[in-house]
Amino acid sequence: MAEVVIVGGGVGGLVAAKRLRGRLDGGHHITVIDQSPVHVFQPSLLWVADGTRDPDRIARPLARLQRRGIAFRHGRVAALDPAGRRVRVDGEAIPYDMLVLAPGVELRPQALPGLAEAGANLYTVDGAREIARAIARFSGGRVVILVAAEQDELPAHGRIRAVDARDHVHGRIHEPVDAQSSDHPRPRREQRLER
Ligand SMILES: Cc1cc2nc3c(=O)[nH]c(=O)nc-3n(C[C@H](O)[C@H](O)[C@H](O)COP(=O)(O)OP(=O)(O)OC[C@H]3O[C@@H](n4cnc5c(N)ncnc54)[C@H](O)[C@@H]3O)c2cc1C
Repeated sequence: MAEVVIVGGGVGGLVAAKRLRGRLDGGHHITVIDQSPVHVFQPSLLWVADGTRDPDRIARPLARLQRRGIAFRHGRVAALDPAGRRVRVDGEAIPYDMLVLAPGVELRPQALPGLAEAGANLYTVDGAREIARAIARFSGGRVVILVAAEQDELPAHGRIRAVDARDHVHGRIHEPVDAQSSDHPRPRREQRLER
């Protein structure tokens, strides 16, 4: 009998857990560990941000995995011990035979000074709610969307695009925003836009 431990109850961890459950017989244990008690389906944050969906509708308690024969442990994984095949969660050592790591990414808005104060991000429920509130208050003007990374670019670089209230792309500022640099260009109204 094998103990399979999956760190992360996001899309990656849940797909891995369900696929493994389908392939392994019931004698093998599968445990998902997450620091959050709920799974948030991130693509649906778009509907929270435009105010058409309540955050509760895009989140599911991870404890429901139990119904599928998958155990859930709520807690933060603080350390891995590959030699001893254990993960440390809230002071407890959880043993494993097989380990799947799916912890996603850690948001670091502070890497770009001013970003957190300048706007909201679409990657969290709170951020999406903030965008919905900002849209409700919006009476006109220019909206700036910062794309922090594109697939073909280094994660530390980004581009600024300006769009108008009808979601029509006005133009693009081609200067990359370098999060590592202390003198990177700040988003400014007067920056020249290419039409
Ligand atoms: C608005 C929006 C739209 C998107 N649209 C699409 C789309 O159309 N198509 C597409 O393919 N992708 C889309 N994505 C991206 C997609 O949602 C993500 O790539 C995906 O959710 C990442 O899944 P993940 O399991 O890797 O990470 P996450 O979903 O971030 O899950 C990681 C989990 O690990 C947990 N965790 C992290 N560290 C620890 C720790 N130390 N201890 C315990 N638990 C921990 C976290 O709490 C989290 O629940 C979109 C994303 C957003 C925000």
